[in-house]
Amino acid sequence: MKIYNTLTRKKEEFVPIEPGKVRMYVCGPTVYNLIHIGNARPMIVFDTVRRYMEHKGYEVNYVSNFTDVDDKIIKKAIEEGVEAEVISQRYIAECKKDMEAMNVKPATTHPLATQEICGMLDMIGTLIEKGHAYVAADGTVYFRTRSFKEYGKLSHKNLDDLQGGNRSLLVSGEDQKEDPLDFVLWKPKKDGEPFWESPWCNGRPGWHIECSVMSKKYLGEEIDIHAGGEDLVFPHHENEIAQSEAANGKTFARYWMHNAFLNIDNRKMSKSLGNFFTVREVCEKYDPQVLRFFMLSAHYRSPLNFSADLMEAAKNGLDRIVTAVSNLDYLAQNAKAKEADETEKALLEQAKEFLVKFDEAMDDDFNTADAISAIFELVKFANTNASAESSTEFLGALKQEIAELADVCGLIVEKKAEMLDSDIEQLIEERQAARKAKNFARADEIRDELLSRGIILEDTREGVKWKRA
Ligand code: AMP
Ligand code: ZN
Repeated sequence: MKIYNTLTRKKEEFVPIEPGKVRMYVCGPTVYNLIHIGNARPMIVFDTVRRYMEHKGYEVNYVSNFTDVDDKIIKKAIEEGVEAEVISQRYIAECKKDMEAMNVKPATTHPLATQEICGMLDMIGTLIEKGHAYVAADGTVYFRTRSFKEYGKLSHKNLDDLQGGNRSLLVSGEDQKEDPLDFVLWKPKKDGEPFWESPWCNGRPGWHIECSVMSKKYLGEEIDIHAGGEDLVFPHHENEIAQSEAANGKTFARYWMHNAFLNIDNRKMSKSLGNFFTVREVCEKYDPQVLRFFMLSAHYRSPLNFSADLMEAAKNGLDRIVTAVSNLDYLAQNAKAKEADETEKALLEQAKEFLVKFDEAMDDDFNTADAISAIFELVKFANTNASAESSTEFLGALKQEIAELADVCGLIVEKKAEMLDSDIEQLIEERQAARKAKNFARADEIRDELLSRGIILEDTREGVKWKRA
């Protein structure tokens, strides 16, 4: 399995620290609003990385934080006249709902910054002791950037270029800093803000320190994969490396993975530009599975432009898989032969080629676009070779292979196949016809069958209504 490592700018063979196990950290969202579909890209992409690793037999310890203390959260809390915690808890709950809808697995641990302050105080204390950090007159603690000789290794930036170059990258409060490149680890509280006691001042942590601390606590000092969107490479991940490696004296993460942006009209979708769609909005128009399919239709390191055309294409692509699975189910229900004959066995052997293609694509830095093409080839193969003459074993094996590959991508094709709206409506029509013909036994049978698939029927004056249980 090869992974493109931002650190070395090369695809490298994946070798875990501990055989059979993966320790993975993905920077999560700041929770002050509903997440937009740009935020959903890393969630879907790295969830798929995790699923593929699990499919390969790895045990994955997957940690993803929620940043629940931040200027934007505090601003919103003041606007609404509530505690910051009310805002962060509300949007964590909403974010989890969106994740579930997109079939993103919950992380092994979802730590919250506000629950990890002790660990932050410890790490900041160690950095001060080791001479990598210092306390300014007002109690602000800064990281002494030049004390970490490898600073810039991830973003491939040179310290002197940074110093002379982009002033906007420098953090405020420069007058107190020894060097404009130094960044904040701990800052004094302002009126009305949440704060914690510390040896330096009552205050709150800078943003970067939380990930260094949570990664260490839940995964250990050295981890396999650290991931996030490409905007996090600098300064966030560069600063995380400096803090962790200066404090622990060990390599922080072996592989650094970054997804490219989700754009709209070729500009990054972001809250600050105001050019965003929330996951919630998009899922009112499309099935969340279509959104997931759309995200995986491009390689994660390629920019992806959100458009109605591409969403339609994603919808059609997903429908092709869902229809094939539903067709295999239908044929299996009516199949006469149980066991596969020699010809079918040979065909199943041939179909393994598509599983190999799928794995090859995923092994090549998680090329989900090519992996989905392999699923399409398998679907085409199934459509060509399955017929009313096929055995249940043959049909079942094809269906299982398609569903399994789709599941590695987090795409639910089976459940949907059982519950397609059009299928439900067709059965309801059949039931109405049976009732008209006074065939109540058949009508009841259909009602029970729908119920077993989680569909509840209601006979109302306006006709039959249905809902999912
Ligand atoms: P934030 O809440 O801004 O810290 O973002 C949470 C995650 O979403 C980070 O990994 C960001 O890099 C990522 N992200 C934000 N906007 C986009 C976008 N337009 N495309 C891809 N990833 C994004
Ligand atoms: Zn982070």
